[in-house]
Amino acid sequence: MEKAQALKEFLSQPRKVVVTTHHKPDADALGSSLGLAGYLKKKGHQVQVITPSDYPNFLSWMPGNEEVIAYDTSKNTLVAGKVREAEIIFCLDFSALGRIYDMADMVRQSSAKKVMVDHHLEPEDFADFVQWDTSAASTAQLVYQLILELGDRAVIDVNIASCLYAGLMTDTGGFRHNNTRHDEFLIASDLVSLGANPSRISKLVYETNTLERLRLTGFVLSEKLVVLEEYKTAYITLTDQELKRFSSQTGDTEGLVNYGLSIQGIKMAAFIYKRKDDVKLSFRSLGNFSVSALARDHFEGGGHKNAAGGQSKLSLEDTIQKFLKLLPTYKEQLNSID
Ligand code: 5GP
Ligand code: MN
Repeated sequence: MEKAQALKEFLSQPRKVVVTTHHKPDADALGSSLGLAGYLKKKGHQVQVITPSDYPNFLSWMPGNEEVIAYDTSKNTLVAGKVREAEIIFCLDFSALGRIYDMADMVRQSSAKKVMVDHHLEPEDFADFVQWDTSAASTAQLVYQLILELGDRAVIDVNIASCLYAGLMTDTGGFRHNNTRHDEFLIASDLVSLGANPSRISKLVYETNTLERLRLTGFVLSEKLVVLEEYKTAYITLTDQELKRFSSQTGDTEGLVNYGLSIQGIKMAAFIYKRKDDVKLSFRSLGNFSVSALARDHFEGGGHKNAAGGQSKLSLEDTIQKFLKLLPTYKEQLNSID
């Protein structure tokens, strides 16, 4: 509360604000950014949302989307200028500056006040104000709580509520994951009372596929899903040619990793695929098996205990081999999960 008071004082006059979030933003990252931006604009601030990369088309319905700058190298000067001019920078849904790639140095070097709002494990110490809670299912709900702590529930309109609801809905996997507590339902309920429409938002996020995306899912399930009973592990890999074959767009692979975990008896699932400059890994697990530790220790990543990600500079094939060679180390742990 004391921190919220200091933030409130800082925001008591119009400020130049940058809101940013992690590379390849998901609905929580973008929803919390646009929800917060909507709120700050209504409070009279000059707000620019900058994402460190593009993001899926199924998020473009979010109010405020049209004003987002999605960084790519051609926008380097523009983005550097916005960050330099900012008096305060909100960093949402990440807590390690490496997650904003090329923007990391700009933010680090900026003299602006920095606010971190996040729910990931092992945060870096770079912010002046911190709203950090690893028990929160989403960053969106932390933004909601921050707005309430600033005394501004009444400022939350249907647009802000919808963005925040989308983040809360997706980071709980549609209120199904084990991070869904009473609090998440209470906040979701309040966001609905403030105008968020659950069926509309779930349709927009979950049921706005392209045919190619569905075909890619079909291909993955029939041809690419590998189950290793011995390690209670399922994994999927995709080469760049395979992604091209299905005209894969940003976001088309989101959620694929969960299919592996839905197989009876499977305790860990991985999805490994080739990106432009590196190989990306996504992990999911059940129970006490920490994929965040696995991602941190071997793949320069992190996240949450049961949902994490990382990357590798090795080739796709070498990355897959590296992952497979690690499994014996974790065999006992994976086999001891109920
Ligand atoms: P996903 O597999 O959906 O990309 O990510 C799962 C979770 O891990 C998300 O909370 C995401 O923010 C986090 N995550 C994904 N990739 C990375 C990474 O490279 N580093 C860290 N620290 N977290 C990641
Ligand atoms: Mn999140």
